[in-house]
Amino acid sequence: MKEQRRLYRTIVFYLCVVLHLQAQSPLESKFISKVSQKYLQKNVRELVKFGNRLGGTKSGDKAAQYVFEKFKGYGFKPEIIKDPQKLTYSNDGWQLKIDQPKRLRGLIQHEWLAGFSPSARRDTVHLSFVGSIRDIDTRTMDSGAVLLERQPSEKMYDELVDAGACCIVSYQNDISTAYSNWAMISTLKETDKNQIPVFNISNNAGRRLQEELEKGTRVVIKYSAKTTIRHGNSKTIIATLKGQTDEYYILGAHGDSDSGGPGADDNASGVSGILEVARILNTMVKNKTLPLPKKSIKFIVWGTEYHSSSSYVKLHSDRLEKIAGVINFDEIGFGKPRHCIYFEGNDILHNHDLLKLFEKVGEDYVNKKGFWKEATTNPSQGGSDSYVFLPEYLNRLDVSEEKIPSITVFTAAWNEPRSMQQTRGWRSKAWKGHPDSVKIDYSPYYHSSLDIPALTTDKEPANMVWGVNAVGIALIRLLWQ
Ligand SMILES: [Zn+2]
Repeated sequence: MKEQRRLYRTIVFYLCVVLHLQAQSPLESKFISKVSQKYLQKNVRELVKFGNRLGGTKSGDKAAQYVFEKFKGYGFKPEIIKDPQKLTYSNDGWQLKIDQPKRLRGLIQHEWLAGFSPSARRDTVHLSFVGSIRDIDTRTMDSGAVLLERQPSEKMYDELVDAGACCIVSYQNDISTAYSNWAMISTLKETDKNQIPVFNISNNAGRRLQEELEKGTRVVIKYSAKTTIRHGNSKTIIATLKGQTDEYYILGAHGDSDSGGPGADDNASGVSGILEVARILNTMVKNKTLPLPKKSIKFIVWGTEYHSSSSYVKLHSDRLEKIAGVINFDEIGFGKPRHCIYFEGNDILHNHDLLKLFEKVGEDYVNKKGFWKEATTNPSQGGSDSYVFLPEYLNRLDVSEEKIPSITVFTAAWNEPRSMQQTRGWRSKAWKGHPDSVKIDYSPYYHSSLDIPALTTDKEPANMVWGVNAVGIALIRLLWQ
């Protein structure tokens, strides 16, 4: 009996090994073996060094040039597309420090200057707390700085300017888990007419300052800001891997840090992921490991999120039917608390086939060495370039509502964990949580001053490898089988 059981176990073991090997096709294995975590991390670090890479600024141009050169180095003939003009800004430098009382010096760290803040000459002023518009008091304001416990609304901003405030310091008192020691970055109205700068500071620093002010401590700050606000053209870079037909898939990612911060995870990670998929697939085609794909692939790094992809759609409005599908990378460099990769959005009917393919990839590779511990599709959350190619947005752009499958691949979204009702009929075997809901991984550094490589992409570099593997394997199944 014992012998029989042992034999049975041995057979099951070898059967598992054979099935395991079969699941991994030689082409997929080849692709996986070429993915370089080192390159992925390095590209993020290099991109972040250019600054926030906003389209139409020097920093954005440098990042676009970097991507262009990389594609060229991988054997492509990349194109540079000059997107339509747009008002943009660069924060060239700033200072924000507590001067008095001495014991609070050094309290403000990892602060950030809000987007579209005007320049302001160095000044030393007292700080007062304003809880709501009703609290605005012109007498106590007296050309001083104002501390707010949330980002100013447009109305609040205008009222404070009218009341004579010279600068706003804001934190985010309503978000509990993120931004404790770093700043959530805000953007003011997109205009060159803003009168006073806004500094974003961390929750801990903000709460402490508020306490001190409420106790009656006289707080004096030193600040200055140097910014440039002008029109510019972002640059979108396109590298094409030619296929047997001119129908094509887009693998895209926004190249700017849309928050205006360092944007390592959001979205240098996505750009780096594109470069890596492009590098490997082009090399495999060039050295004949792979034949020409059934359809072409356009690797696109958008100069400015939404703006560039919208402009692309309008420019190609008479031939949108050539787009077989869009796969978008946004935040593939971090994700707490699960080790999950997500494929969005399964509530769009015509995304079905593409997402089923990704779901299968997620299931085939779950728990394998170097892969995710969980994988799932999830409903639409919005907020990335894949949405530009879906009927609702196409309608807004006044172009024909082509049914283009368009999905986003990511490992984190938002600054807090979020739970979503799973779409009916979608249940990934690689999801370990409750089948009716999806818990979305998050990054506490989302849109903050510390979305930097050391805390995101260098801390959890495996996430980018997952993103590249998922997309590479899916593309091989789509275009080479
Ligand atoms: Zn993003």
